[in-house]
Amino acid sequence: MRVLPIRDQITIARRFAMNLESDRTVDCLIVGGGPAGLTAAIYLSRFRRTLAIVDEGFSRAALIPVSHNLPGYPDGIAGPQLLALLRAQARRYEATPRTGVVTGIRLLTDGRFSASIEAASRSEQIVARNVLLATGVCDIEPKLPNLDHAIRQGYVRHCVICDGFEVIDLNIGVIGYGASGLKEALFLRTYTDRLTLFTLGEAMSLSDRERDDAQAAGIRVIETPVIEVSTEANRVVALRLEDGSEHAFDSLYSALGCGVNSALGSKLGARTEETEGTGALIVDAHQRTSVPGLYAAGECHRRPESNRRGVCRCRHRCDGNP
Ligand SMILES: Cc1cc2nc3c(=O)[nH]c(=O)nc-3n(C[C@H](O)[C@H](O)[C@H](O)COP(=O)(O)OP(=O)(O)OC[C@H]3O[C@@H](n4cnc5c(N)ncnc54)[C@H](O)[C@@H]3O)c2cc1C
Repeated sequence: MRVLPIRDQITIARRFAMNLESDRTVDCLIVGGGPAGLTAAIYLSRFRRTLAIVDEGFSRAALIPVSHNLPGYPDGIAGPQLLALLRAQARRYEATPRTGVVTGIRLLTDGRFSASIEAASRSEQIVARNVLLATGVCDIEPKLPNLDHAIRQGYVRHCVICDGFEVIDLNIGVIGYGASGLKEALFLRTYTDRLTLFTLGEAMSLSDRERDDAQAAGIRVIETPVIEVSTEANRVVALRLEDGSEHAFDSLYSALGCGVNSALGSKLGARTEETEGTGALIVDAHQRTSVPGLYAAGECHRRPESNRRGVCRCRHRCDGNP
């Protein structure tokens, strides 16, 4: 048997080690398995890129009772069904999300990323040449007595852009305050003139001009704290206030905004939006953040030239982003 010189043996061993390493390195790690992450997974797999997709399993889409604004579904589609279809489509290309939480991402000296994943059974590391954050946002829910159940059942609406059409001419309660609460109520004015804004005891704090706008639009503002929420069948029907009065309506919107899950990106040094105080990841026209190899899609990102992020506007933050 011919024995290779030691130098060649070392070279071959190094190459083998590099291959092993590159075999284990995926082209892209996708964090988040909501509509944005799954859409990216379908596209990237069809581009024959290797990928890993990790999802904690709290997509906002799972809360959609029936969506009527998604093109291609004339009779509407429920959020869980949409997610199941997207997952089934991704699976065709062997892009199956694994359940877990990406707890941190490190930038390696050679420009790759190393992500720590915590799953129920074990923790693991994934090394990727690129990372796409599709981590979404989380709604800031109103602190109301016995409302937890109503929120979990989806009795409280969160997105006027998505389902304002469904409340045409109905009597609507909006929970919110300040300029952002008023903005949401004014947007709803497109659909109905029966609007009451409940501030849950917070001061409305509007400028004279904003107060005039509210008055001109016929929006009632109630600053008295709410002490009870009544639900009936599958909706919130009334709020009882501290002064004993009860206000009935057909549907209730929460306009308290949401926080952006962008901490994984901001910890890597990616630029985030500060002007609206949301912490959304700023990307360019190719979804690139300010960190090479780090991308963002879906509700967790924002393009500076656009005021829209995904399909929902958000004004607050809740995951401790700077
Ligand atoms: C009640 C309600 C009704 C709505 N109705 C409509 C509608 O009719 N039409 C419409 O277009 N939109 C609607 N929306 C908005 C829609 O749900 C969102 O626009 C959409 O889900 C955003 O997709 P996304 O992939 O960006 O984020 P998400 O769907 O929120 O997915 C993000 C995923 O990332 C995961 N994640 C986050 N951090 C990590 C981490 N560190 N590690 C692993 N996983 C992580 C989350 O658990 C989640 O699964 C509605 C939203 C709500 C709440």
